[in-house]
Amino acid sequence: MTAELNDEGIAAKPPFSGRKAQMFPQLTPAQIARLQAVATHSRISKGQILAEPGDRHRPMLVVLSGSIEVVQPGMNGEVLVVVHTAGSFTGEMSTLQGIGSLVRARVRDAGEVLVIAEDRLRTVIQTDSDLSELFMRAFILRRVGLIASQAGDVILLGSSYSAGTLRLQQFLTRNAFPYVNLDVNTDPSVQTLLERFHIKADEVPVVLCRGEVVLKNPSNEEVAACLGMNQQIDDDRIRDVIVVGAGPSGLAAAVYAASEGLDVLVLETGTPGGQAGSSSKIENYLGFPTGISGLALAGRARVQAQKFGAEIRTAYSALKLNCDERPYAVELCHGNAVRARAIIIATGAEYRQLAIENASRFLGTGIYYAATATEARRCEMKEVIVVGGGNSAGQCGLSREQVPPRAPPGSIQGAGRLHVSLSHPPYRRNSQHHAAHGHRDHVARGRRTAGTRGVEDGAGLRPPNARDRSRLSHDGRRTQYTLVERLHRAERQRIRANGR
Ligand SMILES: Cc1cc2nc3c(=O)[nH]c(=O)nc-3n(C[C@H](O)[C@H](O)[C@H](O)COP(=O)(O)OP(=O)(O)OC[C@H]3O[C@@H](n4cnc5c(N)ncnc54)[C@H](O)[C@@H]3O)c2cc1C
Repeated sequence: MTAELNDEGIAAKPPFSGRKAQMFPQLTPAQIARLQAVATHSRISKGQILAEPGDRHRPMLVVLSGSIEVVQPGMNGEVLVVVHTAGSFTGEMSTLQGIGSLVRARVRDAGEVLVIAEDRLRTVIQTDSDLSELFMRAFILRRVGLIASQAGDVILLGSSYSAGTLRLQQFLTRNAFPYVNLDVNTDPSVQTLLERFHIKADEVPVVLCRGEVVLKNPSNEEVAACLGMNQQIDDDRIRDVIVVGAGPSGLAAAVYAASEGLDVLVLETGTPGGQAGSSSKIENYLGFPTGISGLALAGRARVQAQKFGAEIRTAYSALKLNCDERPYAVELCHGNAVRARAIIIATGAEYRQLAIENASRFLGTGIYYAATATEARRCEMKEVIVVGGGNSAGQCGLSREQVPPRAPPGSIQGAGRLHVSLSHPPYRRNSQHHAAHGHRDHVARGRRTAGTRGVEDGAGLRPPNARDRSRLSHDGRRTQYTLVERLHRAERQRIRANGR
């Protein structure tokens, strides 16, 4: 075990040492007395395992006597998170959701606990506002702590040159799932793992689940199944409402329907949050005067829906709606169907992508349609071209925490429909001059200064090797110059054709 405990039994280093009063609160005798009404008593014995990573439908335990240690198992052994003593309680978001545990819970000192089953816990959260606030805050902060700890037994072995890696990073991050990210190109510890699990370098991205299962270039659905991220759907139960799509609209519908006591199932083909999940900061959402990241908004909305009992299936597509008979049926990607008295379709919109030749080959390996922290990490210390002049482009250019330091405020300039600019120091210094001269000048400047992210060798993008590196400053730039030229041409043609 690597972490030391402080006097209160909490790992004495961040992220678990901060906000500990809210993360690991002590229940008062009056609160414990209220919980007795919905709980059963159980004796626990030293060394007993109460939960393993991946276990679903675990009860919440309130310690009456003795103690329970919570650890995060990882490749290098266990990392201690907390020791729950009398008055403390186990659990985090997965306890409320009935999905796979992220931690191991083991009895350190024999004693007695109150056992509160998942459905009883949900009832308490919906009916006891005092305990609801205390539990919800603790569960959310504990999950945030687990994510921030950068520990755990789920490892993504990937490459910053691989679109599949980006997809899995987005999937895990937007599902608020803690994982360790290792880059095969830069992390020296990766080689040992590749050898130990017999993985060839060209088989990445690979997800190592709990040191046992090796998923090579898995689909999001395979990862969700392996990690127990989803609640199990009872296909035979007729719901009051099925919501298709878990963007802001779908999640809002789920919150309002579930809070009215309706039985709600939400189906999401990607990750909850939809388009909003890829927004670095939303400034115009009601109730958040200082703005909120799309990820945080989606996370809060999902928790709120689940608090009221809505079930959410992630990485699960609805294929067909059958309205011929009642209750209505939604056919799912696996051939089975779920039924409900009302269906809400909140599948959003697909945004237009760049109409240039070969653009799809660079998707996720140099062309990104979002600028969250995940994408920003890939662009660290690289030159960035922003195409488009709407508010998302503005956020991308202006958000200091999302964009590498060399992308300055004010780098979005230009005229007409195409706005291209570069995060290049000379441009930053002369931004007013360039704004005055229109976007063509920016494109021209881009041709001289754009950097490169990988080498296009006919089979796709790959990391540059030593030979490439000597040519990179020339050839790599040419690749991007061509891209910028094509963008420019394509957009001009589109404007001519559409008249705007
Ligand atoms: C980068 C970016 C930044 C943005 N910033 C802002 C902003 O600052 N302010 C603002 O007001 N708006 C912003 N927007 C727009 C805003 O995010 C969208 O208007 C909003 O997300 C629309 O919500 P929605 O729920 O209707 O649809 P979506 O967000 O598109 O969600 C639809 C969901 O349905 C899922 N789905 C689709 N088909 C199926 C299926 N067959 N089965 C199951 N699930 C399915 C999708 O995967 C998706 O998650 C931004 C958008 C982007 C991309």
